[in-house]
Amino acid sequence: MTAKIINGRQIADEYLRRIKQNVAKLSTPAIFAAILVGDDPASKSYVSAKKLACNKAGIVPKIIELPKTIDEPKLLHIINDLNQDKNISGILIQLPLPKQINTQTIIEAIDPNKDIDGFHPINIGLLAQKHPRFRPCTPYGIMELLKHTGIHLAGKDVIVIGASLIVGLPMTLELLMKDCTVTTCHAETKNLSNKIKQADIVIAAIGQPNYIKGKWIKENAIVIDVGINRLPDGTLTGDVDFESAKEKASWITPVPGGVGPMTVAMLLQNALLAAALHLT
Ligand code: NAD
Repeated sequence: MTAKIINGRQIADEYLRRIKQNVAKLSTPAIFAAILVGDDPASKSYVSAKKLACNKAGIVPKIIELPKTIDEPKLLHIINDLNQDKNISGILIQLPLPKQINTQTIIEAIDPNKDIDGFHPINIGLLAQKHPRFRPCTPYGIMELLKHTGIHLAGKDVIVIGASLIVGLPMTLELLMKDCTVTTCHAETKNLSNKIKQADIVIAAIGQPNYIKGKWIKENAIVIDVGINRLPDGTLTGDVDFESAKEKASWITPVPGGVGPMTVAMLLQNALLAAALHLT
């Protein structure tokens, strides 16, 4: 069979429309700060996508562009000012940061009540305890995409390939919250293809173009491709070999147009939550 496509762009747009309706009910505007350090083209394009989505959702982004030579104390000072600023309800730092800056120190410096990326240890801890507040946006968006397929998640065998703080680890926590049986794999995992063959749902987040082959996918599995890889010809591709995987899967996300737009939509969902928390 050929898989049905999970149209992340369309689902994200519906989400943004709903966020806009809720933003309109707030007594003050929802304003978040987005810090962009340096001029990495990928980071710049992610920030532009977030800005565009803000327009659709009626949320105001305050983009703070900083030079790539900025030192850690200066950046910490800026974050501290934003933590104190009563007009700013959310803060995000576009990753990756330049080498002279310790990413973990920066993540921990953000007020956890303004942490709309959901990476602060308190927010990851709350998710691990199954009482999430700010949920990391990519896994949060994937849970919404899975809802769209109509699958009942409890008891499903899910393989998460990749174990990063941003995607794989919180993805595992999200799925455990829904009573899935989760296998989390990483670069040291042995017999990856055999593990993939057992899974009802495959979530690939490794950053290796077209690495996951269709022949490894169980018939009718759901395939979520998080990877965003730029090929030498400039085109974007995922971590899954889409053409062969779509012949085995029941549902599959495309790249681009799958997980990416949902990640941005969930960031704005978190920005709405931050604005609402800020008013209480
Ligand atoms: P990362 O480099 O921080 O982590 C990659 C993970 O994959 C690590 O745990 C590593 O051990 C594992 N890995 C690498 N090669 C592997 C292999 N051959 N077999 C098994 N595991 C392997 O990357 P990340 O930040 O988690 O991002 C992963 C991919 O997802 C990238 O392509 C990134 O661009 C993309 N991404 C997309 C979105 C989105 O919104 N669509 C958001 C975040 C990241």
